[in-house]
Amino acid sequence: MTTVIIGGGWSGLAAAITLTQQGHSVHLIESAKQLGGRARNVQWQDQTIDNGQHLMIGAYDRMLSMMQLIGINTNEVFHRYPIDITIIDTEFSPLHLSASGWLPWPLSLAWNLFNSAGLKGFIQVARLQSSIPKLLAQQDISVSDWLAQTKQSTRLIRQLWEPMCLAALNTPIDHASAHLLAKVLQDSLGKSKSDADLLIPKCPLGDLFPQKAAEYIEQHGGKVSLRTRADTILVQDNKVQGIMTHDGQTIAADQLIVALSPSQTSDLLTPLIKLNKPAEYPICTVYLQYPTDTRLPSPMLGLSGTISQWIFDRSEQSAGLMAVVISAPGDHEALNKNQLVEKVCQEIHQLLPTMPVMAEYSFVIREKRATFACTVDIEQARLQCKTSITGLYLAGDFVANAYPATLEGTIRNGENCARQIL
Ligand SMILES: Cc1cc2nc3c(=O)[nH]c(=O)nc-3n(C[C@H](O)[C@H](O)[C@H](O)COP(=O)(O)OP(=O)(O)OC[C@H]3O[C@@H](n4cnc5c(N)ncnc54)[C@H](O)[C@@H]3O)c2cc1C
Repeated sequence: MTTVIIGGGWSGLAAAITLTQQGHSVHLIESAKQLGGRARNVQWQDQTIDNGQHLMIGAYDRMLSMMQLIGINTNEVFHRYPIDITIIDTEFSPLHLSASGWLPWPLSLAWNLFNSAGLKGFIQVARLQSSIPKLLAQQDISVSDWLAQTKQSTRLIRQLWEPMCLAALNTPIDHASAHLLAKVLQDSLGKSKSDADLLIPKCPLGDLFPQKAAEYIEQHGGKVSLRTRADTILVQDNKVQGIMTHDGQTIAADQLIVALSPSQTSDLLTPLIKLNKPAEYPICTVYLQYPTDTRLPSPMLGLSGTISQWIFDRSEQSAGLMAVVISAPGDHEALNKNQLVEKVCQEIHQLLPTMPVMAEYSFVIREKRATFACTVDIEQARLQCKTSITGLYLAGDFVANAYPATLEGTIRNGENCARQIL
């Protein structure tokens, strides 16, 4: 019994690990020259960086378990910080989201919020938090409608909810799913203190998981083929037979897992299966190399009232290197590389005057189809793992689960697919 897995992103790799661990025969094929998909290594000058800055949280329990299973010491590969985020704004005073202090969780979070947003801000957040059960029991609405219903102030919308929605759902608040944001809030802030911990990888993403995953799969008898694109899925009598690759090779399979992005899945499976293809939104990462002694006051900072949304200090990778994240569609898309870098540097200098006026050099990565858009009612459009064709399974981040497009969600889907086959 051989399972062919199409796609060497984190989902396909998770499926392959789960199957090979049980002694199942696996052949994973990846069209690119490297593994990792939307969370991969990129070469820039003489350094290896990420295709986009990623942030994980303590609640990513399947991701952490999968890493441990293949021998990765998760205490060593991540910086783990208790939540301590400051969002600085062009008009308002800084807002702190922090677990620090002597109070037990979640009182510490509430206390720090009270201190930076005042009693009114604190009451608004509590009102929104307590509206979650009712929200989830009703039909989905947009995040902005939810914020209006719970009477959130302009300041909280701009400095807290909008940055959080963009970071978590990669979708503007006026059409983002309130249900999905509410679930993310419950998952990351509602449970234990460690679930809200921020995990920042110490090494590039490709070294963090994909390379180690491939080693594990091969050591356990699986095969990994790079530069191999699946062109056609071969089906007879409604049962999967295998695939045809771009160079005309036939690979036989008893089961097939398609672990691709929504648009790639749709391109490959239409007309075999009718799929609802969602919109896909971009994420732009601007890498700025400042003089080597340049540091942020904390590992990451939120910026609001600006095009730049988050800035991460990547000095450990290269002294003075910063990664600025801009999620979702927006005005920045109309700027060319030089205009964008200039704008981002100006914004950083305006909000953090100790930072140099300009970076010494820069690199911009625009991932045009970074994630599916988490729009209102998106949950109903998401795919199921099992298809109507015998032996054909779907993984990848768009398969239904309680997460938006995340590494945790996609690993869960890969693992779940493998379990169904086993
Ligand atoms: C810039 C950016 C920032 C992000 N930030 C975060 C974050 O902070 N936290 C978080 O949790 N998530 C984040 N994400 C989302 C996360 O990276 C994705 O959800 C996840 O990587 C998706 O993995 P996947 O395996 O489902 O799909 P993919 O990574 O898209 O993998 C699909 C693979 O299939 C290959 N392929 C395509 N077609 C074929 C074919 N026909 N034959 C063979 N192979 C094929 C592709 O080359 C690719 O390697 C971010 C994504 C981006 C792009």
